[in-house]
Amino acid sequence: MTTRDEFKQAPPFAFSVPGPIEVADEVLFANAHPSMSHVSPDFVPVFGDCIRMTREVLLTKSGQPFLISGSGTLGWDQVAANLVESGENALVLNSGYFGDSFKECLETYGANVAQLKAPIGRAVALSDLEKELRSGKKYKIVTVTHVDTSTGVLSNAKEIASLVRKVSPETLVVVDAVCSVASEEIHFDNWDLDIVLTASQKGLGTPPGLSILVASERAMNVFKNRKSPPSSYYASWKKWLPIMKAYEAGSPAYFATPPVNLIYAYRASLNSIVLGDLSLEKRLKLHGVASRRVKDAAKKLGLRQLPESEGEAANGMTALYYPEGLAASDILPRLAKRNIVVAGGLHTEIKDKYFRIGHMGITAVNEERGDIETIVRALEEAVKEARAAKST
Ligand SMILES: *Cc1c(COP(=O)(O)O)cnc(C)c1O
Repeated sequence: MTTRDEFKQAPPFAFSVPGPIEVADEVLFANAHPSMSHVSPDFVPVFGDCIRMTREVLLTKSGQPFLISGSGTLGWDQVAANLVESGENALVLNSGYFGDSFKECLETYGANVAQLKAPIGRAVALSDLEKELRSGKKYKIVTVTHVDTSTGVLSNAKEIASLVRKVSPETLVVVDAVCSVASEEIHFDNWDLDIVLTASQKGLGTPPGLSILVASERAMNVFKNRKSPPSSYYASWKKWLPIMKAYEAGSPAYFATPPVNLIYAYRASLNSIVLGDLSLEKRLKLHGVASRRVKDAAKKLGLRQLPESEGEAANGMTALYYPEGLAASDILPRLAKRNIVVAGGLHTEIKDKYFRIGHMGITAVNEERGDIETIVRALEEAVKEARAAKST
């Protein structure tokens, strides 16, 4: 009996929320590693591998990774506590719920935050960003949610970074990529990004609990030239930078205990993403194929996507309005009956009007699992059954 069988009775089962996602057996088994000291000679190189392979996933040579126990949210705290000083300006490009949260986090640390808010279903227009950057106000950072998981809207991180670099070269470009690393294209160096922050439990296919962030040399210089000390104790890069450097160089160091088992699990997942049979490029293509399949099936059923433009729709998830006359209570239980677990709405203004399907990681990439076909079939049956029930 495998671990998976013990926990799930009835295949086919597809756990398809946009994070946490399905985790491969080898990752589950790695997570079940016996307890280890975080300074043991066996563990140190595992942590080092994770730091190096994180660079490879983001296509960066010189970015500085930080792997810290915590969820994706801790990435916001790291940015707010280490890069922005009290009273400095931050600009949040808001394409949904997670933009609101990032803003709140930045304000908690004393940043002066302005927002450009896109209409629901859209990304912030580049022309609006350009106008704001040319307004004369100096921004320390611009943040963008690469995929806002509340709407499934994909922002053009590449174009945003290039515009910021052109108009306001010193402003740091911060990408909340919690729901896009390993499911959407990200070229940290080529796009000249300053921060990419993510978490273990979405495209990276590892259980939740690890905050993963990469900082550019430019960002590290801004950090080193701060006038005030970092405004957090736990999230301080003053504390963490020596730890990351030590582990990467092959020796242990201690500030706060790393999530040892999760690091084993994360390495197992990175091994398949970075060193596996499928290249990263091919994996991203397969996310595109899976996404197309789900979105086409939904369209055929008459379900409308939240993202209004095809080019702004994420590849790792699909956000769909309930069909005319049907609600969550008509659709979600019918999907659950077919062993499909999806997520409800999250965007506060339209929470009850839509639902979200995640298709990241092995669900998209490992075609033998048949997850995508299972999801599509269940969606078709659920919608047809719900319509039939209404019409009688
Ligand atoms: C999930 C998510 C977060 C928050 O991550 P947690 O691990 O839940 O703290 C932040 N931003 C985006 C875009 C997300 O999808």
